[in-house]
Order: sequence, then C-alpha cells, then structure tokens
Amino acid sequence: MQNSKLPDLQKEIEDLKDKLNYWNKLYYEESQPAVSDEVYDAHYKRLLELEANYYPAFKDSDSPTQKAGSLELEPKLKKYAHSKPMLSLENAFGKPELEIWLKRIEALDDEFVGELKIDGLSVSIYYENGEFKRALTRGNGLIGEDISENVKTIKTLPLEIPFKSKLEVRGEIFMTYSSFEKLEGFANPRNAAAGSIKLLNSQICAERNLSIFVYELISSESLPQHFDNLQQLSALGFPVNPNHKLLKGIDELQEFCNNWENKRKTLDYPTDGIVFKLNSVFKQQELGTTSKYPRWAIAYKFAAEMAETQISNILIEVGRIGAITPVAEVLPVQLAGTTVSRASLHNADYISSLDIRLTDFVLIRKAGEIIPEIVKVVNEKRNLNSQAFVFPTHCPSCESELQIKDSEVAIRCPNTKACPGQIQRRIEYWSSKSAIEIKGLGEAIIKQLLEQKLISNIPDLYKLKKEDLLKLEGFKDKSVHNLLKAIEDSKNCTLDRLINALGIRYIGAISAKLLSQNFNSLAEIANASLDQLKNIHGIGEIMAQEIYQFFAESENTQLIKDLEEIGIQANNKNQISSENQVLRGKSFVITGTFEKPRAEIEESIASLGGKILNSISRKTNYLLCGENAGSKLEKAQTLNIQILSLSDLEILINA
Ligand code: NAD
Repeated sequence: MQNSKLPDLQKEIEDLKDKLNYWNKLYYEESQPAVSDEVYDAHYKRLLELEANYYPAFKDSDSPTQKAGSLELEPKLKKYAHSKPMLSLENAFGKPELEIWLKRIEALDDEFVGELKIDGLSVSIYYENGEFKRALTRGNGLIGEDISENVKTIKTLPLEIPFKSKLEVRGEIFMTYSSFEKLEGFANPRNAAAGSIKLLNSQICAERNLSIFVYELISSESLPQHFDNLQQLSALGFPVNPNHKLLKGIDELQEFCNNWENKRKTLDYPTDGIVFKLNSVFKQQELGTTSKYPRWAIAYKFAAEMAETQISNILIEVGRIGAITPVAEVLPVQLAGTTVSRASLHNADYISSLDIRLTDFVLIRKAGEIIPEIVKVVNEKRNLNSQAFVFPTHCPSCESELQIKDSEVAIRCPNTKACPGQIQRRIEYWSSKSAIEIKGLGEAIIKQLLEQKLISNIPDLYKLKKEDLLKLEGFKDKSVHNLLKAIEDSKNCTLDRLINALGIRYIGAISAKLLSQNFNSLAEIANASLDQLKNIHGIGEIMAQEIYQFFAESENTQLIKDLEEIGIQANNKNQISSENQVLRGKSFVITGTFEKPRAEIEESIASLGGKILNSISRKTNYLLCGENAGSKLEKAQTLNIQILSLSDLEILINA
C-alpha cells in the first residue's frame, strides 16, 4: 500500500469507528438501533478488513472490533466484576467462512456441539448454597450490571437448585414472538428484551414475560465435555435449548446449518444463527480467547431471505421530524412470506456506496425480518444507459435546502414549522393507534384535509366543523358524525399516549410510559431540567436531550399551550391504581440493602404516588437508606436531606 493513500484510509477507519460506536451506543445502551444488523455487520466487516491490512498503523485497543458490549455501563445499576470475561462471538457469514475457521483452528476432525444462536442478550447468574444469588448483564465484558430483580421474574429460571457448591451459569435472555406481538415501541424482540431487562420496576419487567435458555456451566465440578455440561444443566432444572447436537466434520456442521436455516422459522423465539463450540473443554482452554471472542467457538449467521426485483422509482420521503428517507418502489415480489413493493434505501450514503440507480435489478431482503431493504445491485443486468442517482439538495415537499448533521448519516429538512410533508406525517402519527388514536382518521383523509386547507396543524383537527367535513370526498352525515365524535373522544387520553403522540425523536410508546410514571402532566415534563430527565431510569442521555430540546422550541411550547386550551385532559388519573396517593409529589432516592426486595419497595412508593430518582440533588425529599449504604448517604447528609429507614417509611405512609 502506498503511503499517499494512508490519510484516506485513516479517515475511513476513523469514520467507521465513529459510526459503529454511535450505533453501539444506541443498540446496547438505548435498545434503539439506528440501522439493521446487516448494515452494522457490513460496516464492521469493512473495519476488520482495514485494520487487518493496515495494522498496526491504525488499530487500537479502543476500536469497536476489540471490545465486547456497551461502551458505558448504566450508572443507575450496581456493578460487579465477572468471574471471567463475557465475550462476543466471531461471525462466519456463509459456509466457506465456516470451513476457513475450522482449518484455522485445526479442528477439521474434532467434535463440536451445534447450538441455536438465540437472539437476545447474555446474562450470567450466580448461585450459592443452592440459591439464586445475583444476575449480571454482559456490561462491558469485564464488569456487568446487576439485574437480579428482573431476572428473578423469568418464570422458567429456577431460583433454587439441588447443588450446594458455588455455581455460575451463562445464557441468553430473550422474548418470544408471541410476547413481542403484545408489545409496542420496539423494532424486534431482541431490542424489546434488552429494553426490558434493565427496567427499574421489576413489576413491568415481569409483564414483559421474558424467557431464558442457559448454555454454559461454570463450577469447580463442571465436566470435561461441553455436551455433558449441557445435560448437567438440564438435570439441575435449568432451561437448556433442546436443539443442540454433537457434530463432527464440516459436512455434519453444514447439514446442521441447512436444517435449521428453514426449521427455525417454526420456532416461537428469534434465532440469528448457529453457534458451534468445541466439545472438549480442555481444547477450549488450549485455544483461549482474544480480547473480544473465544477462539474455540463461532457464530454462523443465517442469511436473511433475499429476492431479486427491479426498481421502478426512487421516492424521497419526509418524516415527521424532517428526516429525509429515500425509498425504492420495486416490482412486487414475494419475500419471506409477504409481497413487497417498497424497499428502504436508508440514506444518501447507502445509495452512493451501492451505486443504486433507477431501473436497476436489485436483491432485497427483510432487514431484522421486518422492513425490506436493498442489499445489492445485480450489475450484470444493468441498463447501459443508466445514470448514477443524484440525491436532491432540496426538500421534495417544501423545497427548503436540506441539511446534514455531523454525527448522523441522515439528511433533514430544517423547515419543521411549515413543511407540509412533515406536518402530514405528524398528524398521521398523532392519530395513530399507539398515540392519541382518532378512529377513522387515516393518511388519505389527513391528506384531503391539508389539501383543502381545512387544517394546517394538530390543534386545527379539534376546530373542524360538520360543514368542513361534508366537503370531503365520500363524506356523508354519518361518517362526519363518527369522525367528529372520534376527534372529541380523543381529548380524553392518558399522559403516556399524549407524550408518544407528540412524536419526539427516539420517544416511542415504552419511553413515553416511563415519562408518564415520573411526571404528572405535560407541563411538568416541559419544565423538567436535562438532569431530571437523564435521571429517569430507562431514559438514556440521547433521549433526554431530545426531550429537552423538543420542549425548548417555541413552536412546541405553542403546541402544548394550544392543546391545553383545546382541553386535552391528559393526566395520570387513568394510570394510578391506588386511591391513596399519600406520597404524591415526594421524591425518593434509595440506597443500601433491605430485608425486602428493592423492587417491592419501589413498587409500593410508586403506587402511592412517590417518585423514585437515581441520584440525590437538593430537590430530593427523602433518602431511603438500608444497610451498607455508601456515597449517597454522605451526600444526603451534606445536603441536609431527610434520611428514612424502612420502618420510618412505613410510619410516614400510615401517618
Ligand atoms: P453476537 O450477537 O454476534 O454473538 C455473541 C452473543 O451470542 C453472546 O454474547 C450471546 O449473548 C449470544 N448467544 C446466543 N445464543 C448463544 C449460544 N447458544 N451460545 C453462546 N452464545 C450465544 O455478538 P454481540 O457482540 O453480542 O453483538 C454483535 C452483533 O450485534 C452484531 O453482529 C450486530 O449484528 C448486532 N449489533 C447491531 C447493531 C445495530 O445498530 N443494528 C449495533 C451493535 C450490534
């Protein structure tokens, strides 16, 4: 490689690292991935290649290729060091890569255990004297976050086992498709499981109905073969995935992949590959690990189903907060059980990096098995006269000049106030089922209302009159009556739906619920400081900033005022079950250990209207202090905050 090229490569490496780190943050810390796994994996692979070819010039221990898990640990959870690192797995995309790996570790004739790779998140669980002691997330690989209370809600996990010595098991927490279907606000079951397991309120976590499969036994009495350890785990009462098998030689490994590539679609839980592990624990130890993964195991990743089709048009869509997304209209095609006629093109970089052109034949697949995307152009079939796609510089809806923010690949229309495209999407979102829900008010009617200038924003919906609606195509007395009634009914909604309906970036149904549990009205959220928002368990830094910024903008302040005037009655009335709200308006920080489970205490404070915060400030009303309290106690004393024991709390409640 010539030196003259190095600055470009260095820039590419730095850009890839920044992108992957940003995507990791959203994926691991906020459970809100910005891109599909296939897009993430392609960037990751490119970085690996560049680092391998130009090492040691640019590879460093800080690269996302060198570290497993989150960049930062959740400050609101206790941390413990792992007994040994919890690592990631090396990927093999396709069978040739699997064979290369077998040769590299000189294991063509060794025995392996083939296991399904469950698409969830890993956990390590400790038992002492036959009893559940603690459960930790993978965290940053070396230190995990304590999620014991939530893990205890997993029904199939035994909390007592017939084994008196110390024991650690590792496994995958996941959400079944049937549980996922009942939930809104997450892109897929993996993110739903990840978003649930760190919740502060284990009652909510229990409702999410998480599951677990255990796949590793760590104890002084573990057996020399991995397969036997899996049997031992079963015998102790742990849920072990039954679809594991002893295999030998590349043919048997490939057959196992072929078999599950189809059969996995009949399972009620998500799988994204097969993990092959050397059966001999001795050989595993001999091979050891890198800083990121064990050398004795590999994840063979399933290919998402693909189909070939042709692009008929490239549309540029404007989202409700101005994100400009290119979408390809394609000739309809069957893909993984549905007919697909549109495919995501993600962003301008994506189009130019794949050189996607109008009339190209392309391979599309279901990303994360939900939204189809274009993955490849079939170059051999390209029309020789086709031209590279030129991304517009102006918004297709309002013609404002488009903007690119530094940290993002997304291009935006800055005209949030007046862009008709954005307004239409916001109103559609407002009236959708998971938001305010105005029955019968869908995309086509909203379009007509906007075109006829009967509305120009959300509050206008509530000013619509019978005579306005009679002007719409197909509207008669009865349909007008129904729509007006649906609009009127929507005024009486719960706070979480109202927050969700505002369409704040990154704030979906789940985070809206969290906010509604911590505030009593929209006005309270609008007046909250950035720190107060960050302090809410489950609201990450990025989300907090988006909320804060949303309420700082003048048009949103006006919107909140207008909604109030219209009489939108969103408050927590409908959500609080207990009549007895004696702790209403009081904030609590909890520290130390108690004779009762922490989750139970939190639940009772919350049910009586109290607010639970994660860190102490001058505004905190009480510190509830158990045994072995640390720095929070000192801080509370310095700030003169009232300190309560559990029995003081009971007195307070009963008084
Ligand atoms: P991984 O998911 O590829 O593999 C390692 C994990 O597999 C283990 O930690 C364990 O949790 C799990 N696993 C499931 N079944 C197992 C079994 N039977 N035995 C052993 N382990 C099993 O690695 P990772 O580091 O957790 O995540 C990297 C992957 O996550 C990427 O390849 C990408 O697909 C995805 N990711 C996506 C984004 C995004 O923005 N879309 C961001 C970060 C990561």
